[in-house]
Parts: sequence; structure tokens; C-alpha cells
Amino acid sequence: MAMRASAPFLLAAALAAPAPASEAPPPSPAHAVDPDVREIVSGISPERIQRSIYVLASFKTRHTLSDPLPSGDGIGGAASWIRAEFDRASAQAGGRLKVELDSFEQPPSPPRNPQKAQITNIVATLKGTDPDSEGRTLVVSGHYDSRATSLLDAASPAPGADDDASGVASVLEVARVLSHFKFRATIVFLAVAGEEQGLYGSTHWAQGAKERRADIEAMLDNDIIGSSRSEGGKVDRGTVRLFAQGIPPVAAPDEGLTALIRAGGENDTPPRELARAVREIAAAYVPSMNVRVVYRADRYLRGGDHLPFLERGYPAVRFTEPAEDFRRQHQDVREEKGVQYGDTPDHVDFAYTADVARVNAAALAVLARAPAPPRDVQIEAARLENDTTLRWAPNPEPDLAGYRIVWRETTSPFWEHGLDLPRNVTRTTVRDVSKDNVVFGVEAFDAAGHASPAVFPRARTTL
Ligand SMILES: [Zn+2]
Repeated sequence: MAMRASAPFLLAAALAAPAPASEAPPPSPAHAVDPDVREIVSGISPERIQRSIYVLASFKTRHTLSDPLPSGDGIGGAASWIRAEFDRASAQAGGRLKVELDSFEQPPSPPRNPQKAQITNIVATLKGTDPDSEGRTLVVSGHYDSRATSLLDAASPAPGADDDASGVASVLEVARVLSHFKFRATIVFLAVAGEEQGLYGSTHWAQGAKERRADIEAMLDNDIIGSSRSEGGKVDRGTVRLFAQGIPPVAAPDEGLTALIRAGGENDTPPRELARAVREIAAAYVPSMNVRVVYRADRYLRGGDHLPFLERGYPAVRFTEPAEDFRRQHQDVREEKGVQYGDTPDHVDFAYTADVARVNAAALAVLARAPAPPRDVQIEAARLENDTTLRWAPNPEPDLAGYRIVWRETTSPFWEHGLDLPRNVTRTTVRDVSKDNVVFGVEAFDAAGHASPAVFPRARTTL
């Protein structure tokens, strides 16, 4: 049974909680519904997603080393089509999407890539409309390269309908719909290549972002989101998995990571706070979808384009269908003993894919309209006490409504309690709730109710 922090639940918790010290009027209701986000969700078209998947699967192969020519039936043709689709979406939205190619030469790295490869990412940017927030960036991605049984086979048909035309088609569709709306933060839509060969495209773009010190608050990777049917035949049209890393596998944790681990925050890394936020947004706007958060970076034996972002310190998570059919992935298209193999479009559930795209669209819309996550969040830990005092730096947004203190049992996966505070409060004491026993976070929200992901507080050991 999934437990969700619904709006009434949070409000009830806030009413039951002790009143804040401030006399200021209470902020807007938590998780107020934004009619634009409702419109965005209903604007996502399963038919357009279906068409995109069929077009992408119609190229003979999208293998990274296949025909690079834009007029060909290989990866170059697919890249050219994706670019044209982004350009068309931009034209229909008054030119608001800036479409660019991020092209580079990947040196050979045997055995996965025996020869140098030209890799092209297609990047569409919807710039934030608030000059103070446009540096804040949200990224959504899918990979358009595909493969057959042999990783090095650049000639055999590799339709890659689920893996990962489903992700690219969804990114295109979310871009088409979101580009008609305004967001204070910037949203980047990425169609990357070289994923199967070694996450080349996403690594290149993430490294560039890190070098220019891009402020990436969230990265949503969509890879294999096309089917609701498992290999065993079980159908689940209401679940999408969201993989979220805890402590990164680094040899030497830095100061921040060490402090997080010492404070029992191993389950409150930025990717996990992001996953919790996405799950709550989905519950509010796409209630037919259960976001099944998985507390690990990815499945066994597999990786994806969120990993290069995680490795560079950015909060990144991965969407994948509820249960995969491995006969349909990384397989030559063939029939064997009556069993169909190969990643063809006929096994894709377009309505399901559209629902996953809706979860992405709602999450991006809410987070790009929300204030930035609070900075410098601290929990006062200079003396022994049973109350909890938190403080944080004031957010800069002029339309900030306030801050929400959230907490849960240390053994609980998702937020259970909330306390809303007005914008002038940047320090508060929660009476009779001991920081020793629960996990706290602080969110910022605006007058329309868009809330940031929570921020785990670091311990402040001085008075
Ligand atoms: Zn994939």
C-alpha cells in the first residue's frame, strides 16, 4: 500500500502542529493546484507519442556507428528528424525553444567502442522567464541511439522502440506542451546518443554543464518507459519506477557527504529528496500513476544517462517501466520457437508512455515554477533538548509565500508531517518533536503552492 502525503494530510498536520512564533498571516494552502499544470498534463498526446515512436523505429538502426548522413536510414537520419521536431515545436511556440546540436568526436574505447565516433546530442532549451531564477536548470532526457544483440553491430535492424524511442518521444512531447507556458527556471530537453556504447552523449553534456558551473537542480532520465507488460505477461498500467541514488559510491566522501552520513541522512541525498518531490507532484496531478520510488541508482547490470549527472554531483533520477520484457531489449529482431524477439513498436503501450510523460511534465512544470530549494538549512545541535530548531537563509523570490518544515520517522520512506511558515520566518522551533527521532527537511513554496524539493539540514553545533 502506497502512502502519499496528500494536501489534506499535510494541512491537518500543520494545524495540529504548534503555532510558529511569528504573528504573520498564514501562507497559501500547501499544494494548491495550478490550473496550468492541469492543462499541461491533459495536453500530452498519446497519438503524437505513438507517431514519434513509429518514426524513430522506422530508421533501420540508430546504432551510434551507423549511417551518420541526415538523409540516411541510420542514426544521422534520426538525429535530423529529432532536430526538425524540436524546431517545429519551437516555431509553434513563438520561437521560445532554442534548439542546438551538441556534437563531438568520441575517441575509441574498446571493447564497447572500437573506433572513434561522432556523437550528436540534440538540445532544446526553454529559458526561464525570471532573470533571477533562469540560472536554475531542470533537465529531462531520453537516448535516441539503439542496438541489436551485438553491441558492435551497426548494420542489423535495431528499432529501439521501447529502448529508448519511448523516452525520446516523451521528451519531444513534453517540450511541445511546456513551451507554450512560462516557468521561472530554465528547462533543458535532451535527446542524447552513445548511451548503449558508454553513456557518451550524456557524459559530454553533463561535463560541459559542470565546467560552466550550471546550477542543475533536477535531472530526469527517461529510459525504457514504453511498456506496461512484463516478460511474464503481467500488466501494470499504473506504475512507473523512479530510481534514486542514496550515498554515492565514492572512495573518499567530502565534508558535506560525511556530515550527511553522520547525521543519519543517508536516505536524504538530493536525488532522494527529488524523487520524493516528483512522487508528491504525480500524486497531485497524475493520480492514476503510482511513482514507485526505488532506493538505488539503477537496476542490477544496467546504467543510464542519469549516472554521469550523479557522478558530477547533480540530483538525477531515472524513470523506467514497472517490469521489463528482456526479450524485447538489446535483441536482434527475430522469431525463435514461436517467441518474438526485438524492440519493435507493436509491443509499446502508447497510453502508458503518455502517462509517464505526464508525470515528467507535471514534475518539470511544478519544480520550474517553484522557488529554489532553501539554502544553508541547518538544524541546531549545540545542546541536548527534545525540541527541534531549524534555520535557513532567506529565499530571494519576490513572490515567495513561505517555507514548509517536513518530517517523518527515520524508518519511513516519505514525508509524513508538514508545518507551513510565512515568508518572514527563517528560524523556527518545532516543540516536542525531537531531531533525534525523526528526519527533517525544509522546502520553499510560492503563493500558487509550487514547492521545492526538501533540503536535509546540516547540523549546526555552535550557538
Ligand atoms: Zn536505454
